[in-house]
Amino acid sequence: MRILVTGGAGYIGSHTVKLLLARGHAVTVYDNLSFGHRDAVPKETLVVGDLKDIDHLDQIMVVNQIEAVIHFAAFAYVGESVTNPAKYYQNNLLNSMNLLERVRRLGIPRFVFSSTCATYGVPTAMPITEDEKQSPINPYGNSKFCFEKMLADYAAAYPLGFTALRYFNASGAAPDGSIGEDHTPETHLIPLVLQVALGQRPHIEIFGTDYPTSDGTCIRDYIHVDDLAEAHLLALEKIQPNQGNFYNVGIGRGYSVREVIQVAEEVTGKKIAVKEAPRRAGDPPSLVAGSDKIRRELGWQPKYTQLRAILETAWNWHKAHPKGYGDK
Ligand code: UDP
Repeated sequence: MRILVTGGAGYIGSHTVKLLLARGHAVTVYDNLSFGHRDAVPKETLVVGDLKDIDHLDQIMVVNQIEAVIHFAAFAYVGESVTNPAKYYQNNLLNSMNLLERVRRLGIPRFVFSSTCATYGVPTAMPITEDEKQSPINPYGNSKFCFEKMLADYAAAYPLGFTALRYFNASGAAPDGSIGEDHTPETHLIPLVLQVALGQRPHIEIFGTDYPTSDGTCIRDYIHVDDLAEAHLLALEKIQPNQGNFYNVGIGRGYSVREVIQVAEEVTGKKIAVKEAPRRAGDPPSLVAGSDKIRRELGWQPKYTQLRAILETAWNWHKAHPKGYGDK
């Protein structure tokens, strides 16, 4: 398939591009490199461009005879979305709307969307199934939720098929060490913990130790980025015209912040200093995926079912690339 990947030079995007190329697809990456990295994708696949430059993007889709779009490009800092919602609605919603409309007009039949478990807000039941009421608690989650609705309406009215994947906590790196996680600023637990192990930070702050969980710290479902990438591929293959599907993508097992730190100590062989800190605004106590639907309907099966194996790949990347891609 000839596939356009927006945001393909970012963390999840680049791992998906690697897999798509390995499976013989023709890939065009469209990325403005604001968060993405030039070295994260093969040079010949990359078109540097901004999502808001919709005429340019349209032209790229025409020239490359695109048959499917995987849409990753988005801002994803929850805290920033609260203080600067305009930025999130402009990019994550308005630019995505423009893209989808061009996709429709060009008659491109398949669309895969990066959604998020943040569309659920504070869930009422655990693990979270796709039937859980979506009630996002921040503008980031709202922007993704609104676009999901738009996709559903488009697929009902037009000959377009889509799949929206609601990610849990993407983590890990390519096992060959070639690409990995590098955000500026870095806010995610696993890379920060590994930066402590590398001596780049004095300690990790634990945001909240009084949650109603087994050890008082937040529980998350950490999913290896290659397993996420595989979900995109399976989704793409199964998309049917006029149909839309929503899937949670997580391994279905939660780990607390303290457990993540403990496993990181085992994997790295380093003592990781911690500092207990207040809760971070907008963090639900526990988010664990019910992923039966994607396993059943797409035959998806995560290869990495243990946090230790995920952390080993992340540690491999961070050790070999202590400054990440070194371009920011
Ligand atoms: N967390 C933490 N200290 C940090 C960064 C994150 O305690 O320096 C916690 C955070 O509160 C959450 C979990 O680790 O409960 C995972 O956070 P992350 O930012 O990695 O992903 P999120 O769940 O926000 O998507």
